[in-house]
Amino acid sequence: MASVTQHTTINEYQDFVQKVYRLPNDRFFSSWDMLTNIERFITRGLKGIRKEDRDKTKVNLLISFSWLMSMMNQFHIGLENEVWKRFPYLCSYCASCPCSCKKNKVGKRQKVFVDEEKRPKTLKDFQVMFSEIYPSETRTLEHVGIHLAEEIGEFAEAILAYRGGHKEEDFNNIPLEAADLFSCFMGVFNSIEESMAKELSIMFSNNCYMCKNAPCTCSFKTIAEFKS
Ligand SMILES: [Zn+2]
Ligand SMILES: [Zn+2]
Repeated sequence: MASVTQHTTINEYQDFVQKVYRLPNDRFFSSWDMLTNIERFITRGLKGIRKEDRDKTKVNLLISFSWLMSMMNQFHIGLENEVWKRFPYLCSYCASCPCSCKKNKVGKRQKVFVDEEKRPKTLKDFQVMFSEIYPSETRTLEHVGIHLAEEIGEFAEAILAYRGGHKEEDFNNIPLEAADLFSCFMGVFNSIEESMAKELSIMFSNNCYMCKNAPCTCSFKTIAEFKS
């Protein structure tokens, strides 16, 4: 049995997704299909924000995040390292904690200094880090949702550029945009005051959350018609 605990690291969660979903992913889904699913469940999560339905937001963003992990596995990108390089307890843009982009009208990306001693261990610790870099009190949930929508657009652009030209410099943008997208998932969870690690541990206590198998045996039809 494969399961996720509340103390999971981002790496461990990525391994869980590989174990449970690699087989159906390889057989059914191209990177375009995966991108569609990341977007599909993010937009349902945004609908949850508009309708003030936090459970809808929560469950759909968890599913979207799992699709992001599937895509990271397909591209052989370790998300945890990328997130840490991009956000080493600092805003990736203004290089301060808490973020001072708005206050100081920072117009240019600053160089971030990585202090390995500060590196969070678990997914839960990463969520705390993001709550300190981007405190929820400084922005509304709708604002965080709009930022999430922007970032999925930028992630999609990075995939489009790489899939078009297969150039290494384009590939290198994918992990950066994935890390930005992840920071927005964290932002929404901090704003709705839910622990992503706890929710993942409930959803994935026993293999695939739908069919309860590892590898997942959900049919393509079940996945394509899934309501949430
Ligand atoms: Zn900033
Ligand atoms: Zn399944």
